[in-house]
Amino acid sequence: MELYPFELMTRTIDQVDVANRRIFLRADFNVPQDENGRVTDDRRIRLTLPTIESILERGGSLVLASHLGRPEGKGHEAEFSLEPVARLLRSLSPRLKSLKLIGTRCTDAEVLKAVTNLEPGQVVLLENLRFEKGEKRGDVALAAVLAKYADGYCNDAFGASHRGDASLLALPLLMRGQGKPCVAGKLLEREIKYLKGVLESPKRPFVAVVGGAKVSDKLAALRNLCGRVDTILVGGAMAYTFLKALGTPVGRSLVQDQMLEEALSILKLAKEKSTAIELPSDHLCGQSLVEGTVTRVVEGSIPPDWMGLDIGPATIARFSEVLQGAKTILWNGPVGAFETAPFHTGTFALVKAVIVATAQGATSVAGGGDTASAVEIAGGASGFSHISTGGGASLEMLEGKEFASLNALDRAEVVGYSDPRK
Ligand code: AMP
Repeated sequence: MELYPFELMTRTIDQVDVANRRIFLRADFNVPQDENGRVTDDRRIRLTLPTIESILERGGSLVLASHLGRPEGKGHEAEFSLEPVARLLRSLSPRLKSLKLIGTRCTDAEVLKAVTNLEPGQVVLLENLRFEKGEKRGDVALAAVLAKYADGYCNDAFGASHRGDASLLALPLLMRGQGKPCVAGKLLEREIKYLKGVLESPKRPFVAVVGGAKVSDKLAALRNLCGRVDTILVGGAMAYTFLKALGTPVGRSLVQDQMLEEALSILKLAKEKSTAIELPSDHLCGQSLVEGTVTRVVEGSIPPDWMGLDIGPATIARFSEVLQGAKTILWNGPVGAFETAPFHTGTFALVKAVIVATAQGATSVAGGGDTASAVEIAGGASGFSHISTGGGASLEMLEGKEFASLNALDRAEVVGYSDPRK
């Protein structure tokens, strides 16, 4: 079902004949792991499967590539190897059972040999792209090595797509110059359709929930939302910077004192652009941010020894009411310190309100690493229309930024590429 009259301007993998073609698939397999190297959240990997399957079932072969963690380009480091990702991929789909992780670096001579011999339906995974110094630097020389591996390029790495790394920008630019198709994968397509779609053609009322620790992190997003959304519900620690700026005592709550002027200027901008900003009227306060700390609900001013760590019951009721009347909901940032009980209460209650609104026909999109995990922990993942796999990327999209890596892909209307095999 198409939710928005929003057209993706980028050519997609479904629009390319991949039979007997080797496709370089830049994925975002940058997933969290526990101390034993086990992947603790495999969403990014699972959500890339539709693109992988679509290429393989149409007779293409795949060169999969990703970064993982933050190695500094000093060659292979076992701690950052993609081996755990390879193991997981093999277990997720019968088509990936014989997937091979090749080489210790993606530039090893053996990689070119292995990819040259790929048969339709076969898949290899390259080692961590960030083992190469050139990856973070956006190096054309690295892109030139990678470009030899495939006849086409597909970007499905939404979580990294706000970056200008070699595999994300120089590589598609180079491959397009070689007449090879460079397209968006299905996950990337879904992310852009939802995140840009809600911003550009929302059904109204359009409500945003913005929370998290710092106003400074969300400044550009808040400004971009003013005039686009009808109401912004502000929660989390950032609410205390707004409240302090307005003269309300906030006790020992987390405040960015250097952002007080900025907070006032956002309130002014919202007013000018007819966006209502709602701040919490009551708070669940604690004396420290530890589980089991003494808590109390405070209305209005917070006494000197107390910290606001979650929205209070009256605010939960008010925000839930606004959310349940919404037709489009965008959420970035938890409204409390949800990792520490009982300060998860507000965030979890709002997750429930969004699920109800979604069941009644609203479109709901959650973005940002913390928000996605809060929604999952609250059991809301399947009740939202879309939960973004991007943290920084989804925030930058809310800020209205252009992504060079997406602009580097083929335009949707461009057809008739020369087939490099002929
Ligand atoms: P962000 O990454 O900016 O979305 O911030 C998320 C973090 O903000 C989470 O780790 C929350 O625990 C934290 N947070 C949210 N509300 C509060 C609060 N009232 N006081 C302290 N930390 C908070």
